Amino acid sequence: MSSGSEKICAITDAATIRGLSADALVTCARCGAKAHDPANVCDPVQFPDAGAFGD
Ligand SMILES: [Zn+2]
Repeated sequence: MSSGSEKICAITDAATIRGLSADALVTCARCGAKAHDPANVCDPVQFPDAGAFGD
C-alpha cells in the first residue's frame, strides 16, 4: 500500500500536502484539496483559468 499516487484528500502530513499541492492545477470538488496531479484528489476539477497562465 505505497504506490505513487496517494489521494491528497486522505493525507494528513502537512509537508506531503504542501509538496503535492505545489503548482496546483486541480482542486477537489469534495474536500477542496489542491493538487498538481489530478490523480492525487478524489474528485478532480481543473481550475477554469489554468490555461490562461500559458505565457
Ligand atoms: Zn477530496
